[in-house]
Parts: sequence; C-alpha cells; structure tokens
Amino acid sequence: MLVSSDYLVVGAGASGLAFADALVAEADVEVTVIDHRRAPGGHWLDTYPFVRLHTPSAYYGVNSLALGKDRIDEVSENAGYYERATGEEVFEYFAEATGRLTQTGRCRVLTRHEHLGAGSDGEQVRDLSTGELHEVAVRRKVVDARYLEASIPATHATPFQVAPGVRLVPINDLPAAAQSGCSYAVLGSGKTAADACIWLLDNDVQPDRIRWIRPRDAWFYDRSHFQPLEQVGAIMEGISLDAEAGAHAANVDDLFERLEASGRLARIDPAWPATMYRGTMLSARELAALRQIADVVRLGRVRRIEADRIVLERGETKTGAGVLHVDCTALGLNNAPATPIFQPGRIVPEACTWIVTQRHSGLPV
Ligand SMILES: Cc1cc2nc3c(=O)[nH]c(=O)nc-3n(C[C@H](O)[C@H](O)[C@H](O)COP(=O)(O)OP(=O)(O)OC[C@H]3O[C@@H](n4cnc5c(N)ncnc54)[C@H](O)[C@@H]3O)c2cc1C
Repeated sequence: MLVSSDYLVVGAGASGLAFADALVAEADVEVTVIDHRRAPGGHWLDTYPFVRLHTPSAYYGVNSLALGKDRIDEVSENAGYYERATGEEVFEYFAEATGRLTQTGRCRVLTRHEHLGAGSDGEQVRDLSTGELHEVAVRRKVVDARYLEASIPATHATPFQVAPGVRLVPINDLPAAAQSGCSYAVLGSGKTAADACIWLLDNDVQPDRIRWIRPRDAWFYDRSHFQPLEQVGAIMEGISLDAEAGAHAANVDDLFERLEASGRLARIDPAWPATMYRGTMLSARELAALRQIADVVRLGRVRRIEADRIVLERGETKTGAGVLHVDCTALGLNNAPATPIFQPGRIVPEACTWIVTQRHSGLPV
C-alpha cells in the first residue's frame, strides 16, 4: 500500500510528538508519526517505577498541552521546587497529547510501525502487527526523531557478562526484588544509579548495605537553578554563573572548578575528580543522601560478574549470593554525533543548548 504525507516523523517520543505538535499548529500540513513501540511516549514506556522527570514538568512535553499543574512540592527531596512528573504521568500525558493531535484530522500516529529506510517509491515502513510492508510517499521531509533515542536499563543489552545464579536486575525490577537483609551493588555512574541509591535509602536500607560501582564521577547541576515561574530568577542566576565562569576560565578544568565554586555544579564526592558531564541534576537533599554511601568502587566499568567477585576494567571486588546487583549502566541519551538539523529531505530534531555544551566541553559525554 502506498500512502502519502507531507512529513513522516520517525519516533513518537518527546522529540517526535513535540515536533508534530508544532507542525500541526503552525502549518497546514499532513503529518504521519510512526513508532515501533506499542504506544506513544518513547522511553517513558519502559521506565522504572519510581522515575520522575529530572526537570520541572513545566518544561517538558509538547507546546500545545501543559504537563502538570505548576505545583510546588512540599515534601521529599524536591521540597520547595516545582513538581516533577512521575513516569506514569509522563506516559499518560503523551497519550493525551497524541489523542489531541489525531483529533485535528491532520496527524496520524501509527504505533507498532517500524521505519526501515528509503525504498524505491517512498519510505519503507513495516507494520509489526501484520508484517506488511508499506511505502510512504513523503511530499516534504522525513523527520528523524529517533536520532537521540534514549538507551535505558530495561531495554539495553547488558554490556558485561553475568555468571549463572548471579542476582542482577535492571533498576525497573528493584522494588520487586529488594528484600530485607539483602545487600546491594548499584552499577553505574549517572542519574539512574543515583535514583537507585536514593530509592534504597528512602526505603530504609542502611548506607553500609549499598556498594556503588561507580566507574566515573559525574558533575550534576543544582536543581535550584532550573525552576520556572515564580522562581525563574534562579535560571537567570544560573545562566549568569555559566557566563561568568566561562569568561574567566583558563581551560576546561578551570571552568568546572569555577562552576563548582559558584554552586552551579556539584559532585557527590568533592575530593574525587569528576570526569563525566551529562547535564543531569540533583537537589541539595539528594546530594546529602548520596554522600552517606561510603563504599564506592572506582575500578572502571564492569566486565563480568561471577558468583563471588565482580571483575572490572582495573581490578576486582567481592560479591556474593546475598548481593542484589542493580543494572543502571545504560547510556541514557545516546552519544550520536552532532549533525545538521536541516538536511536535504530530512530534519533531525536535536536539543541545541546543553548538548552542544557537552559536546564541546572536552569531557566524555
Ligand atoms: C530517566 C530519564 C529522565 C529524563 N528526564 C528528563 C527531563 O526531566 N527533562 C528533559 O528535558 N529530558 C529528560 N530526559 C531526556 C529524555 O530522554 C528526552 O527529553 C526525551 O524524552 C527523549 O525523547 P526522544 O523522542 O528523543 O527519544 P525516545 O523517548 O527514546 O524516543 C525515540 C523513539 O523512536 C522510536 N524509534 C526508534 N527507531 C525507530 C524506527 N526505526 N522506527 C520507528 N520508531 C523508531 C523508539 O521506539 C522510541 O519510542 C530524561 C531521560 C531519562 C532516561
């Protein structure tokens, strides 16, 4: 079957839906959005049960529909800051945004459809429910909204070997697998690993029962600088701190030291060099909680987990049958190289500010 559309948007995650939403609002065009997942929402469909947006809800989603009610949280690590949607709320939000898009009559959203690439008569799309192959004749552009597709623990291929009998779960299964008396080895350096540790601490696991296998130490933004609305002055302050540090820094190391000294960036252990910067953020309360974990293994990435030891790039550490290993090693946003957003026949939506900063910071992203 040959169908036609002005735009074919590949990927119904935040990028694809936001792009389609803006197209439908701004131009008299027909848009087809496809995704090989079972529903719109991208990586939020497979996310861990206690995940929340890193940023306030006010910043996230499509232009035409607000996410959340701009409430200020009163309890927990986000107290005093604007609400951050749970994974389930984000998922429901994207379902509603998709419903509104399709109601315009100018946008169709096809889930369980996979883009295979350009064919002789158009873009090749496979309906994964029936196996049928369709050609979509694209009158204007293909929008590659999968370019920054997130890699998450629930769906990535575990990048190390695991011996039979070792208890290893993706962070998604942590609440179901956690048991009293258990010890934990949290694997990963980033925000997902931090979330796993905070979940354990919040659920009364003593810090000395948590071993954090942290190949690299990360820089985190202070969440106070990312508040909208009544607290928007904090954003201006954060930007001015960036500008001031950038203006005076002699080199990249000096830049990060200045950003830390100003309170813009923080690392969990100020005595240890941080070499990773992925633009994620923590509140002061989260930082304080994470600093309780003293058993940090810094021997590089995990190569394999055996019954009684974890073999890493630069050594090994003990483990055992009473240890639940929690996989938080997925990449998150992928490291696809920067590419022109507007290309012949193709548009590649990308986040332009902090990702550019990351890519030009000289640090591994
Ligand atoms: C735990 C977590 C929390 C985050 N919190 C925030 C936050 O608070 N604020 C923020 O701005 N960002 C946050 N991010 C970053 C977030 O990843 C992005 O903002 C955004 O959700 C990514 O959307 P995306 O559409 O680019 O990617 P994805 O959500 O990964 O969507 C890409 C889609 O493309 C589909 N696809 C891929 N290949 C094909 C193909 N060949 N055919 C059809 N479909 C295909 C995939 O199935 C997928 O659904 C967070 C990320 C994570 C992992």
